[in-house]
Amino acid sequence: MKKIPRHILTASLLCVFVAVMVVVLGISFRSMKEAEPIYPGPGVTGQEMLSKYCPNLKGTAGDTEIYILDSGVPGASMLVLGGTHPNEPSGFISAISLIETVKPVSGILYVIPRANASAFTCNDPQEGSPQRFTIQTAGGERWFRFGSRATNPIDQWPDSEVYVHASSGQTLSGSEIRNLNRAYPGREDGTLTERVAYGITQFIKQHNVTITVDLHEASPEYTTVNAIVAHEDAMDLATLSLWELEDVMKISVEASPKNLHGLTHRELGDYTDTLALLMETANASQGRLHGTVSAEMVVSGQDKFYYRAGQYGALTVDYPETGIGMSERCARHISALNEFCKSYDGPAGTIDLGEMPSYKEIITNGIGAYLASPK
Ligand SMILES: [Zn+2]
Repeated sequence: MKKIPRHILTASLLCVFVAVMVVVLGISFRSMKEAEPIYPGPGVTGQEMLSKYCPNLKGTAGDTEIYILDSGVPGASMLVLGGTHPNEPSGFISAISLIETVKPVSGILYVIPRANASAFTCNDPQEGSPQRFTIQTAGGERWFRFGSRATNPIDQWPDSEVYVHASSGQTLSGSEIRNLNRAYPGREDGTLTERVAYGITQFIKQHNVTITVDLHEASPEYTTVNAIVAHEDAMDLATLSLWELEDVMKISVEASPKNLHGLTHRELGDYTDTLALLMETANASQGRLHGTVSAEMVVSGQDKFYYRAGQYGALTVDYPETGIGMSERCARHISALNEFCKSYDGPAGTIDLGEMPSYKEIITNGIGAYLASPK
């Protein structure tokens, strides 16, 4: 039998290896398309899709669920955005906790847990992020996706070299063109990201939403962290809430810069009548100083390099050796949301979220105690 030349054998083996890798990575990539279950709790009275407010989203990866928790008692309303950046999981998990456990007694709570649904279907390149993480609940373990800061390039491509923000003409790096929090107020016929922003803006306008809060996380070395960022119209509400929140946590209020466009706390305040707020908690997995980002680290926040950086005074937050865990980060978001409702005393009436866990209770019992058990 004729011997196969060595270079042909090598090339063939390489082809087989590449084919196997393509299949393995394809299966892995597809697995992020499956959305984690959300179990609507006793307060949920309705559900809509964002495409109702931007028909150009229908059938796209940007369409996403809006959960409605209507107390039946007229009053003010609050919209909570989780998952604007799916690599900032405390906002997403806090939003799910509201859907699954809150039962408002006056006013209406709206929750969009996966604001950028497309960005949940991929990871950021070269970050080595996990695709999923888990949280223990009373009835077992739940899984959630750890996504990307930006819309999946499969759904919106190519990126231009320079991103021109449509309504202001502001120019940013092309990499920001898929960032939902640079796309507001959005465009009905724009990119997928702009259409999502447009749908959210239209939702707020049509429902005359009183307060809108966009939940985020940031690197522990970032200056705007453990903070509320407020549009000037929402500054009174943020400050009133701060007085109460300062009793239980270190937190600050910052003014939304007037010359930075596309962000919720700027454009939703300028283009609608809503009181626009954004919150940031400290997330080690997003920073530049961390070690390996495992699924456990996303939840525990425990990272020896961040701990050491904190010892050198290089961070803007206290970073304990035990980390800043998901429960503490969600406790910040959830207790601030509750406080915004309590502190609001404007013309829209009241919004009362009903019985809510305290900051300390969420940390003591763990955020899993405020999520439904898997079904
Ligand atoms: Zn963010």
